[in-house]
Amino acid sequence: MRELYITDGYLKSFEATVEEVTGDKFVVLDKTAFYPNSGGQPHDVGVLVRDGEDFPVVYAGLFGGKISHELGKTGLVAGQEVTGTIDWDRRYLFMRSHTACHLLSAVIFRETGAMITGNQIGEERSRVDFSLEEFDRSRLAEYVDEVNGIIKEDRAVRTSLVSREEAMEIPDLVRLAKSVPDREEIRIVEVEGVDLQACGGTHVGRTGEIGKVKMLKAENKGKSNRRVYFAVSEGD
Ligand SMILES: [Zn+2]
Repeated sequence: MRELYITDGYLKSFEATVEEVTGDKFVVLDKTAFYPNSGGQPHDVGVLVRDGEDFPVVYAGLFGGKISHELGKTGLVAGQEVTGTIDWDRRYLFMRSHTACHLLSAVIFRETGAMITGNQIGEERSRVDFSLEEFDRSRLAEYVDEVNGIIKEDRAVRTSLVSREEAMEIPDLVRLAKSVPDREEIRIVEVEGVDLQACGGTHVGRTGEIGKVKMLKAENKGKSNRRVYFAVSEGD
């Protein structure tokens, strides 16, 4: 199974072959552009079309290392050819929000040394959690301003695949306070001059596409756990 979004986050439609169907509605394809719910980024939705007939994709998840597409309708069988199309508006919002997460975590790390402990992207809002003793809302607002500055600079966002050994030699690579994924090839996402992270999600190609980041809320989540909620909107 090939994950097409790994090399092309902008791919909206693709041709594929049905490899497995479980319980009449859980479908594995030989390749897919559907991003599965993982790493704080929600799954794509969309449609698989077979001979002009639509099979809505209502969920995509990782099960046993494979991406399973949950369909809203039964009838597909292994061996059939389909055309898949993702809901682009939803995905593009997630790409913009996800890239904004990178910028926010990079700025927070640069300014405070805080590690990011979690993130969750959503349609209405997204959040970044980080570990920091000091908690100052006005400083956080400044960090968001810095993020908007990086967006205005319209920096390139590049992805590449490197070996695990190479990845481990890059300082501060995994800003999410957890280990580098246990894979032979690690995907590196670079925001030119700002951030370098191991990440399997989808991102925009230039920071300018994010638009504008607005901080919605900052919360204390215990002794040193901090949480920032934000939303992205079209730039001015
Ligand atoms: Zn990412």
